[in-house]
Amino acid sequence: MGLKVLFVSPEVFPLAKTGGLGDVAGFLPRALIDAGLDVRILMPAYPGTKDHLARRRVEARFGDLLGGGDTDLVGGRAKDSGLPFWLVDCPPLFDRQGLYQDDDARDWPDNALRYAVLCHVGARLAGAASPVPWRPDVVHCNDWQTGLIPALLALGGGPRPATVFTIHNLAYQGVFPAAVFPTLGLPAESFTLHGVEFHGQVSFMKAGLTYSDKLTTVSPTYAAEIQTTTYGCGLDGLLRARAGDLVGILNGVDTANWDPATDPNLPHRFDPHDMAGKARNKTALQEELGLEPAADAPLIGLVSRLTEQKGLDLLMTVAPDILARGAQLALLGVGEPALERALGRLAEEHPGRMAVQIRFDEGLAHRIEAGADVLLMPSRFEPCGLTDLYGFRYGTMSIVHRVGGLADAVIDATEDALSAGTATGFTYEESTREDLLAAIDRAIGLYRRPEQWARLRRHVMDLDFGWPVAAAKYIDLYREVVARRGDAAG
Ligand code: ADP
Repeated sequence: MGLKVLFVSPEVFPLAKTGGLGDVAGFLPRALIDAGLDVRILMPAYPGTKDHLARRRVEARFGDLLGGGDTDLVGGRAKDSGLPFWLVDCPPLFDRQGLYQDDDARDWPDNALRYAVLCHVGARLAGAASPVPWRPDVVHCNDWQTGLIPALLALGGGPRPATVFTIHNLAYQGVFPAAVFPTLGLPAESFTLHGVEFHGQVSFMKAGLTYSDKLTTVSPTYAAEIQTTTYGCGLDGLLRARAGDLVGILNGVDTANWDPATDPNLPHRFDPHDMAGKARNKTALQEELGLEPAADAPLIGLVSRLTEQKGLDLLMTVAPDILARGAQLALLGVGEPALERALGRLAEEHPGRMAVQIRFDEGLAHRIEAGADVLLMPSRFEPCGLTDLYGFRYGTMSIVHRVGGLADAVIDATEDALSAGTATGFTYEESTREDLLAAIDRAIGLYRRPEQWARLRRHVMDLDFGWPVAAAKYIDLYREVVARRGDAAG
């Protein structure tokens, strides 16, 4: 039997998703199972989450953990994929529409308690006193919401599995006032500089980084960046100290879900040998979004959470220049209310040339990936960035700030890279108007050279960013960390 992995995430596509973490948690476990591993996924039961499971049953009852309400463990198989899931079912904590925030984009005030409960369930399932017979060799935790699991296991004494913690975004740390600490069920001695204490507060992220056997993040460049003061969000010192245990593994793409030849979200299908459908998707997208039906206007797409990180304020300063060059902008996103309003106003000022849709819409995300000529990712920092990888599948290159995973995936279309056939998009160095516009100009310039553009498109459609490549790296890491724990125990 293969290695047993308990994969814990606060969101898993298609049961619940706000961003890239949901995609990773939805598709990496499948790739691990395909490679022969025995994987169970643990996540909270949000509204509607249970409906995704077939053969659903309560497998354990934990009672009232941490005072958050009675908590059950609901097991079942995902109806779409057959993946084995465990849901943490505690309606007072998780039966709310927003995963982490209310309708006004304010964090739920009890997020510490909510995710501490997820962590306690995870630690129970991994520990010797688990209520179920299945015991993992590895617990793979994802982002701050799971950060207390490695701490509970390491501090609990007793036999425990190996722990791997993946940083999907270091900027979200789960930092709460010290007054919350006594409610989290952690040993008192862990509230120190070398434990979960962070500038007088409690940090779930720091707990994960401190107590896990191995750390990963979602691209090699981001793994290096987070060890610097610029990108380290105050945790760079700790990450430098743990550099020997930190690796960057670029996320993959689910090639079945993002496939222009079969994608049910698209009005027209296409593939590298028959690209006519791509042009038809562009026309359909222009019509859907109320953009002028101009086949030769470069259509620039953007699908993003609307936060400071994603550089939308920068986009707004250059949008009039982009439109003045005859290009069109199609943006889909949801996030900070002030950004949503400002983007909406800008679109109203440019009817027919800039379209802004403020909502979460998986289908439209696919249609933008397919119908746009080029995608824009002006992120200030970007741990991985999946939309550029998805774009490749649809022959849509990206214009990106050369940071994090974007730097790893996008090879700038310099004359040299174009001649060598290695270019995959357009990069710029600094988050400034000038740099961004220069990259956009280069993209538009190349778009006006249809033969070169078509060659670039063919090349990116041939790239292999499938999950098996990334999954193999995680499996090596699991083996290493299990062997190391075996040595330590022996
Ligand atoms: P992040 O994880 O920071 O949100 P990524 O680029 O890694 O950024 O992943 C974003 C994922 O979320 C992609 O799958 C993208 O298509 C999706 N996404 C973001 N915003 C929306 C939206 N408003 N509607 C549909 N999908 C969205």
